[in-house]
Amino acid sequence: MSPDPVPPIQPHRSERPQTTAVTAGRPERAPDAPLNQPPVLASTYVGGGDTGYGRYGNPSWTALESTVGALEGGRAISFASGMAAVHAILELVPPGGTVVLPRHCYLGVAALAGQLQDRGALTVRVVDLTSPAAVLEAGAGADMVWLESPTNPMMEIADLATIGAGLRGTGCTFVVDNTFATPLLQRPFGFGADVVLHSATKFLSGHSDALLGVAVVHDTDTDRLSRLDTTRRLHGATPGALESYLVLRGIRTLHVRLQQAQATASELAHRLQRHPSVVAVHYPGLDTDPGHQVAAAQMTGFGSLLSIDLGSADAADAFVAAARLWVHATSLGGVESTFERRRRWPSELVTVPPGLVRMSVGIEHLEDLWQDLEQALTASRTPAA
Ligand SMILES: *Cc1c(COP(=O)(O)O)cnc(C)c1O
Repeated sequence: MSPDPVPPIQPHRSERPQTTAVTAGRPERAPDAPLNQPPVLASTYVGGGDTGYGRYGNPSWTALESTVGALEGGRAISFASGMAAVHAILELVPPGGTVVLPRHCYLGVAALAGQLQDRGALTVRVVDLTSPAAVLEAGAGADMVWLESPTNPMMEIADLATIGAGLRGTGCTFVVDNTFATPLLQRPFGFGADVVLHSATKFLSGHSDALLGVAVVHDTDTDRLSRLDTTRRLHGATPGALESYLVLRGIRTLHVRLQQAQATASELAHRLQRHPSVVAVHYPGLDTDPGHQVAAAQMTGFGSLLSIDLGSADAADAFVAAARLWVHATSLGGVESTFERRRRWPSELVTVPPGLVRMSVGIEHLEDLWQDLEQALTASRTPAA
């Protein structure tokens, strides 16, 4: 094992995050040095150095980690997938500890926490994260409060500042899954988070071609960082060098992808809200949305995810089947527009309406996306022959 399992500290940058996304994680500028950190495919290294073995470190991880760390304002550690990072973070809970989870959150997180509860490793308390009072009440005496904002797939918003302030000094670890917002739209450390999580599989990668997860802690939090690093070493859920390279390449264009997709999502949300076949639109950018004000206060943009309720599973199934441009697929955050009727998964919560379709808006032309949605909505109203 290397003497220092912790990646180097990234000095905090004065430049804007859009610039950091482009400049961070580069090799040192020297004549004929490559501009990008190339993927280093190595399981072992010549002895005598700090890394030694491919499960302990890789220059491609370090380049990605220093970039995500700089964007969030902390120190990042990457994993084979978002779920591998989720697992490593849950390992921070002491044996028999208590974790507060939102009613709606990424299903894998709820399933893993449930599995750990079933074998007595921890106890789960479920709350409505839209109520800061309920979260803080459940957080009293808990070891970890785990939030996601906006949530998957209902697009609920948690008041991170109020919850972070309430948890400060209590010793409870405050985790924020920032996958939906990305560090360009929301920076949870500013609201008191101790750990920030990304499924980099989604927006950071942005091209639906890599699985990777990142956990970020405060610069000074070497204790949590080294515990996460130990879990990565011993459980072996290490990211691939190629995946690390792809995700970092994705981050370079995150800003322009997100800006485009978000503008389109906002326009689509408004148009969908006026469409007679749509029962409800959930998008924090709509001023009628229950999370709008809190989202406006804590985010610099409302993102490119929304969900719509078409009233019934049949209508939603017909809608997704009739689309030609939009792809019916799970996952989100790619340049291509995808959507999914969430209740097609038997494990999805019954509190998610059967006709709910989560939409991940990509960077295609607005009018092409709208035309396809309109014809699919029309088809969803016409009973199949
Ligand atoms: C996808 C996702 C995860 C899990 O990440 P994987 O990379 O699929 O393992 C966790 N949280 C959220 C919000 C997600 O969307």
